[in-house]
Amino acid sequence: MNDDRWKTLMNSDQHLSKAEYLQGWHWCWNWDGLLVGPGMPELRACQCDTPEINKAKSRSDLLTTSSEVVEMLHKLREEPDWTADTWAAKVSDISRLMDDAAALIDKVAKERDKLYLELEQRKTSEPQK
Ligand SMILES: [Zn+2]
Repeated sequence: MNDDRWKTLMNSDQHLSKAEYLQGWHWCWNWDGLLVGPGMPELRACQCDTPEINKAKSRSDLLTTSSEVVEMLHKLREEPDWTADTWAAKVSDISRLMDDAAALIDKVAKERDKLYLELEQRKTSEPQK
């Protein structure tokens, strides 16, 4: 979804493509019908609940968490005057964020495993040529 496509969709009665729908794009009731999707901060605050939207949310949480961790690590290195206590507090914040990210990755990995299983089932149930 680029800016032009987003504007076109917002200002016409064109429909989302199937690919856009699968990526989690939707007209969000929490945002008065705004077109919301991956990469938009509005997605994190929306309460819509479909598998496609939830997947996009997990992904955006993961990206945000990862960049927060990287940012915090940089800050940690740039503050040589911090006391050991301040360091300890920051390190434990970072560690908590990394645990969140690990839990999200775990969730996503389980979804991926389900997909592979489904793929195997589809392969074996299709008639052989
Ligand atoms: Zn929504």
